[in-house]
Amino acid sequence: MISRRDAAQRLDIPLEMAQRHGIPGWISEEDIAALAQDPPAWLAQSRANRSGGRPVWVQLTCDICGHTESARPKKWWPEFTFLSCSDHNIWDLPEPAAGLARQEFDEIGGFFIGVVDS
Ligand SMILES: [Zn+2]
Repeated sequence: MISRRDAAQRLDIPLEMAQRHGIPGWISEEDIAALAQDPPAWLAQSRANRSGGRPVWVQLTCDICGHTESARPKKWWPEFTFLSCSDHNIWDLPEPAAGLARQEFDEIGGFFIGVVDS
């Protein structure tokens, strides 16, 4: 069984949508596979609306320790050069390449700091 949150990620839909359309709190792998294979109208619609758009979920991975978290991307997020857990020392990341300036973004997902070298 996987949780509703995992199911939403698997189907690439917002958690609220999974809830609204009656995905139970826990759902079997087979049921998720069946939904993905033969999507009901609301799911097919959601996928069609999003084709070519931004993913609903992204996988964030710490470049220092490899910790991962799936999160709902925010519109304002830039392309991050690096991601780091907020409890690491940011200087543990590789230095920015010569001539690039480093910018840090707090509160990426629940746990991360994003770094952009540009
Ligand atoms: Zn980390």
